[in-house]
Amino acid sequence: MKKYTPLIAILTLSTPAIADDLPSLSSSQFHQCLDGLKYTAAFRDVSGDTFERYRPSEPDPTVIRSLNYQPEFKKDVWDYHASLVDSERVADGLNAKREMADTLRRIEARYGVKAEHVLGVWGVESNFGQTLGKKDLFTSLATLSCFDRRQSYFRSEYANALKIVQNGDISPADMTGSWAGAFGQTQFMPSTFLELAVDFDGDGRKDLVNSKADALASTANFLSKRGYRTGEPWGYEVVLNGYDGTSGRRNKKPISYWQSMGITLPDGRPLPYNMTSAGLLLPAGKNGPAFLVGKNFDTFYSYNASESYALAIAHLATLLEYESTNTNFATPWPTDDAGIGRREAKEIQQALLNAGYDIGNVDGIIGDNTRRAIMDYQRKMGVSVDGRAGQKFHRLITSQISTQQAYPYSSSTPTQPKAITYRKVLNADGTVSLIPMP
Ligand code: CA
Repeated sequence: MKKYTPLIAILTLSTPAIADDLPSLSSSQFHQCLDGLKYTAAFRDVSGDTFERYRPSEPDPTVIRSLNYQPEFKKDVWDYHASLVDSERVADGLNAKREMADTLRRIEARYGVKAEHVLGVWGVESNFGQTLGKKDLFTSLATLSCFDRRQSYFRSEYANALKIVQNGDISPADMTGSWAGAFGQTQFMPSTFLELAVDFDGDGRKDLVNSKADALASTANFLSKRGYRTGEPWGYEVVLNGYDGTSGRRNKKPISYWQSMGITLPDGRPLPYNMTSAGLLLPAGKNGPAFLVGKNFDTFYSYNASESYALAIAHLATLLEYESTNTNFATPWPTDDAGIGRREAKEIQQALLNAGYDIGNVDGIIGDNTRRAIMDYQRKMGVSVDGRAGQKFHRLITSQISTQQAYPYSSSTPTQPKAITYRKVLNADGTVSLIPMP
């Protein structure tokens, strides 16, 4: 995977994200809290030596800001989906499927979980191991243990993180992850790690950071322990043919029921009887794509408690199974302005930077800063102002502003090599080629 990581060379020219609303956290209060913490029941199995060795010197206020972050803009389900399941992720997934084929076969034999279902989780969780999170876990969890909401939950995760290094499974330098403490290729919380991580490559350590075999087997173990049914699909796309009754993932019925309601596969064929029972998932209402989802979809859901998230895993798994890069559903999303993938998102961000907006990093993630800049640009262009980065806005701005990276003008800056942006193209034989973009 590594060799595919630096494909799109992004030079960060902008200033880092604005640190305007950072809470101020008292260092002495932090250490007083930690002094008390180490003698509490949650830390019973953490040695004093371990506790002190990984004790952070200062709290990290950015994690408290993340804890209380309220998104300024509501994201449509098709935008969320398009950003998670794009052609880039499918191409990366097909490479991962080939690279890990032998391991995935052995995992399927041991845990009864389909290879593509494991791959779907891996791809959505960490972009196949490319995005693990860079925040120091001990600092994040210690800060969350001592300030603001949900301290008792984070105290137990902090203790669990310390137990993981104490057990020797993960080296301390690898204990980095999301602001909330999820880490490794599977983005397990420390408690999930202690419950479900496995050593699959047999080196005696459960290393979900550096061992893809351990990470994939742990994912399969997770799905299995959450009720995965071997041999069942997660579900499939259907068409309603006028059905207007109850829906919902939890409202499960036998397939025969849905068949009697007139629901069919998108091409009109009858529903396959390959799930014990299924619920009708309508992520954007009855005019959007429809899915019958079974128990295995619920196991994806249990990874992150979001149906949109589970659908991204499911859809990615299906594309990887059929080796298709067409990310569209048979029934399109009910919008005349479809969502964009990360490549288009990066192009929008670069164009906004080139137009003089200080939107932070070009990371393909449309956050509040980017959306505020989009609103301003829309206002200037006299189009409707919603701050949304969809296909229409992508067409608008890229027809007017270059998406090429600009370079610093300072003479003290050494000559920069010309950054080339590559487009990944999936060849018929399954390999991936890189085509330089003009
Ligand atoms: Ca191992």
